[in-house]
Amino acid sequence: MRIGFLALLSILVALASTAAAHGQKRIALSYDDAPRSDGALYTGNARTTRLINALEAVDAGPVVFFVATAGISNSENGQARLEAYASAGHILANHTHSHMWAHQTSAEEYLADVNLAQTHLSEFQNTRPWFRFPYLDEGRRPDHVTTLANGLEARGLVNGYVTVDTYDWHLETQFQQALQDGLTVDYDALRALYIRLSLEAAEFYDQIAMEALGHSPVHVLLLHENDLAAHFSSDLVAAFRAAGWEIVHPDDAYTDPLPTPSTQLTSQGRVAALAIDTGREPLALQHWAIDAAAINRRIADQGVFREP
Ligand SMILES: [Zn+2]
Repeated sequence: MRIGFLALLSILVALASTAAAHGQKRIALSYDDAPRSDGALYTGNARTTRLINALEAVDAGPVVFFVATAGISNSENGQARLEAYASAGHILANHTHSHMWAHQTSAEEYLADVNLAQTHLSEFQNTRPWFRFPYLDEGRRPDHVTTLANGLEARGLVNGYVTVDTYDWHLETQFQQALQDGLTVDYDALRALYIRLSLEAAEFYDQIAMEALGHSPVHVLLLHENDLAAHFSSDLVAAFRAAGWEIVHPDDAYTDPLPTPSTQLTSQGRVAALAIDTGREPLALQHWAIDAAAINRRIADQGVFREP
């Protein structure tokens, strides 16, 4: 078969761009539980402004906020804060109304709560039909998991899974406690730990994906709409880029999603679950970023919080 020069050239260009796309690690940022209430460092309002500015400063593009819609009335200016995120180009999606554990809630009650959240979200622009299970708890019992998955599908909702789980919420809890206790915070050490938590977990789960799936997927990082995110998101994005990661649009992750695993995990994320499906040992897939005691050791070792 003879291939014309232009056809050959277009094939080579396509191959090169495919290689480039696969050579670069890609990750989308997701922030759960917005709009959260006031913190010790930022009020809810100040946090929203700071987070939007931090993402804009590094041109991080749209991120997704998974909204627990009870926060709209439970936090000051919740409605206006969500409107601010959407107006800045970010995406809003469903994280239930009341943030319940799926395995402790009947399917009927749970799906009614999903409906309520969807009703609230319909008032906003820039939404997507994505659903993030609170606590990443998809129901645990196989029959319950199936009922909930079918219920989401019937509502046109796509599972907003994560591939990189971290306990950023635990570091935030320790930080808030330190501020309330009047401890001195070493912000450089805190920044370094916040970044390492996500970046080392991302490298870890990417390596597992390469081994178990044979390729690097578009990852989704789980963060929360907390004071640490507002304070350090621009540094986080810069650190990921310096390590060879591209920050991508969340659409890039969920329009071509990873397959649904048969393994049910309440932590760690979809890459780990798919790896277990292929026979990997579950304990070997746990990273220190999802271990509260390991995070506490790093806080102590690095002198993040000190008596004044
Ligand atoms: Zn949540």
